[in-house]
Amino acid sequence: MNITNRCSNRCKFCIKNFRKGVGGFYLELLQEPTSIQIINELKDVLNTKNWTEAVFCGFGEPTERLDLLLEITRWIKRYCGKPLLFRVNTNGQGYLLNPGRNVIKELKEAGINKVSVSLNASNEKNYADICQPQFENAYNAVVDFIKKAKNELLVEVTAVSFSDIDIKEIAKITKRLGIKFRRREYIPAVY
Ligand code: SF4
Repeated sequence: MNITNRCSNRCKFCIKNFRKGVGGFYLELLQEPTSIQIINELKDVLNTKNWTEAVFCGFGEPTERLDLLLEITRWIKRYCGKPLLFRVNTNGQGYLLNPGRNVIKELKEAGINKVSVSLNASNEKNYADICQPQFENAYNAVVDFIKKAKNELLVEVTAVSFSDIDIKEIAKITKRLGIKFRRREYIPAVY
């Protein structure tokens, strides 16, 4: 589910910099969908296929719309005929984007099982350079998000195979945190 195109980062490698979609799907939102619009679309497809997983991902950071994400998760859990795994692909800045909220607890209570967190740097300086976050100290906040999530949810950390990114070092940090690491392939610009 592509619920927003907004993001608190401006990663150098972000696919949004040079494409309007991926995998044959056009993902640039002219307007963010309301929960009613999403639910109406879900009603048409939810029980038509043998879905195993529901993923909030898309062309932006899903926790930019935390309340909508929680609402849609609860709705699917109520109306889907089968148990699904619920995953959020995130930049890990949910606490920065939603100050005062207990983001991990709220995700868990709504029914999210797993977060896949993009780390993409091994320290604050590299993170600022590669991901160009709107927040200061974003890297530490992402690592903190990962640590908190580990206590409540399934967690995976990812990094993109991109020239400036030290995959080995990020894999080491992730291992030290006791979390599974996955390298993601960089989707190069095609003009
Ligand atoms: S965190 Fe993801 S959506 Fe946001 S700029 Fe980076 S790659 Fe793009």
